[in-house]
Amino acid sequence: MTKPFIQNHHLNVIKNKGRHIQYCFHDIEDAGVLQVVKGQAADQVKQAFSELKNEEAEVIDPLSDVKTSIEVEAFIGSIYPYVKPFPAVDHTQIKQLFPNNKKIQLPNLENTDFSYLTYLGWNDPGQRKKYIVYEFDGKLVGIEGRYTPPTQRNYCYFCNELTPVHLVSIRTDETSTGNPDYYRSIGQYICKDSDECNKNITDVTALQSFIQKVL
Ligand SMILES: [Zn+2]
Repeated sequence: MTKPFIQNHHLNVIKNKGRHIQYCFHDIEDAGVLQVVKGQAADQVKQAFSELKNEEAEVIDPLSDVKTSIEVEAFIGSIYPYVKPFPAVDHTQIKQLFPNNKKIQLPNLENTDFSYLTYLGWNDPGQRKKYIVYEFDGKLVGIEGRYTPPTQRNYCYFCNELTPVHLVSIRTDETSTGNPDYYRSIGQYICKDSDECNKNITDVTALQSFIQKVL
């Protein structure tokens, strides 16, 4: 059987395109136009994968045949066995990712469905800290940053949606020459609600570049 290969951000692209096809079938009657819409949607889904084996493409191909919301839902149900979940981390593993932080507030993992996570993110409102765990180059990494209130609406750097965000600043270990007290800090607007961000994210390029800069 084809191994799981669909990550959460791919799944979000598939859901978006499935919804788009469904709307077009509702609004457009021209069969030729609809054919083009379906072809474009299938291409865009395939482009979301950096590489796609033939047997994996066959899992995605039936998306071109959906027309109604029921068919979209049925298609999404049919690809669930191929969804590759985020590694199911526990509190012990998370603590090990933040060895210098003895006051870390751990996330509530009881209701976390790892199938729908691109990254695990949570806030500590008391200390105004945001924590992110991500699998980078096959290894779990943890980063933490401070966020500045108030929350405002802006485009999230990770998911590129207009959402309630806060400005998260993360200090890097990069020092300027000759000045050991100088640290560079990187700040980006990131969704306040990481669960919502995980529902929106369709591309991991920004997330990966952010993590690469602060590691
Ligand atoms: Zn976001």
